[in-house]
Amino acid sequence: MTLHLYDTYERSLRPFQSIEPGKAGLYACGPTVYDYAHIGNLRTYLFVDGLRRVLEFNGLQVRHVMNITDVGHLTSDADSGDDKIAAKSARSGKSAWDIAAEFTSAFEGDLQQLNILPPTVWCRATDHIAEQIAFIRDLEGKGYTYRTGDGIYFDTTRQESYGRLARLNRDGLQAGKRVDLGEKRDICDFALWKFSGVPGQRQMEWDSPWGLGFPGWHIECSAMSEKHLGSYFDIHCGGEDHVAVHHSNEIAQTQARHGTRLANFWLHGAFLKTQDAKMSKSSGDFLRLHSLVQQGVDPLAYRYLCLGAHYRSSLNFSDKALQAAASGLSRLRASVLGLGAPGGEPDAAWLARFAAQLNDDLNFPRALAVAWELLKSELPDGVKKATMLRFDMALGLDLAHWQPAAVTMPPQVQAWMSQREAARQERRWSDADQLRTLARQAGYEIEDTPQGQQARAL
Ligand code: AMP
Ligand code: ZN
Repeated sequence: MTLHLYDTYERSLRPFQSIEPGKAGLYACGPTVYDYAHIGNLRTYLFVDGLRRVLEFNGLQVRHVMNITDVGHLTSDADSGDDKIAAKSARSGKSAWDIAAEFTSAFEGDLQQLNILPPTVWCRATDHIAEQIAFIRDLEGKGYTYRTGDGIYFDTTRQESYGRLARLNRDGLQAGKRVDLGEKRDICDFALWKFSGVPGQRQMEWDSPWGLGFPGWHIECSAMSEKHLGSYFDIHCGGEDHVAVHHSNEIAQTQARHGTRLANFWLHGAFLKTQDAKMSKSSGDFLRLHSLVQQGVDPLAYRYLCLGAHYRSSLNFSDKALQAAASGLSRLRASVLGLGAPGGEPDAAWLARFAAQLNDDLNFPRALAVAWELLKSELPDGVKKATMLRFDMALGLDLAHWQPAAVTMPPQVQAWMSQREAARQERRWSDADQLRTLARQAGYEIEDTPQGQQARAL
């Protein structure tokens, strides 16, 4: 089955064919680094990682570009308010540059813990100011901009197709919303360049043909994706909240400059919710991966939890769901370890079954179910192991390297294990089973592996 992906732009499942044979260009909107990522943000990056792994599973060489928004993302989508990083700097007393560096590195640490493959290219908005200025100059030359007292704005009324991605109803918007537009001519218009105000007061500001200032958030992504992937590439993705504003505006800019819709496919991941409320960074009430780790949770248990829900369905986070995922992952790891060394090639029929689920719009929940079925199948252990390890290239659970943590076994359990070893050698199977049950009742699971008996805490 060829890979099919749900394209938000067309609102339909489409067969994926890369623009350049054998290669795929992928741009994912990265974090705004004014705070730690919460586990909701990380769900989106797990979705992107899953997408990249599926492209690679299909033999494509992926150029994965992720930006770091370290300037220009305002506290309000309506182009008012301060820059989020500047605001954090004012609150914390640290410099805007230090804040961006601190949270960028925390973010990279989160990705590593979740076994998310590092992007091929990381790009920081503050390293691409010249490209953004050149982009705005071009839009200006084509007549898409106007100047107000606080910046240079994109004139969305010049564009027939504006808002197509979001199926925006412009008439409904104008009639339904009574907002203070300031000097903006239209509710959908957005800032390309914001003026500094009092010169020298901002920590992040640059010279431009329009005066001292800083770029808007949307132009960053149009300029950086163009630099690293070209003006029309395979896939652009992010969280579902980006459809209405950020991605609509990115498309508007690139459409105006190059006449393309920026990407052939637009993919969006649904939100992680807690008790049915969306988790948000700006509300300050959020859960970090680090907090879960401090509670003794393996970060990959969170990955396993996310694998269990399709990326286009919202996922409700709860401790109970996380515990269930942690125990599912433990069982999976123990079963895979118990298979011993891989032997031979992965089984082609099982690979095809697994790939069919991945290629059905990244159906990881069903792909995971196929992995469990494989473990229960009659295939020889060595082939099963080789096949599972191939599956794991898409699942990303790092099954090849997992080893049970060395547990200090209570002397009583150790004694039962030696008695059980003797019982097994003497083929007293029911005694061996009884000893295993005793250990289980004491909270330890004894498993027979090619390396001998192994016990783990339950
Ligand atoms: P931000 O750092 O706020 O720019 O967000 C980074 C990414 O996380 C974006 O792709 C957002 O769409 C995504 N995101 C924000 N909140 C959530 C959430 N609760 N669940 C899933 N993704 C989210
Ligand atoms: Zn973006």
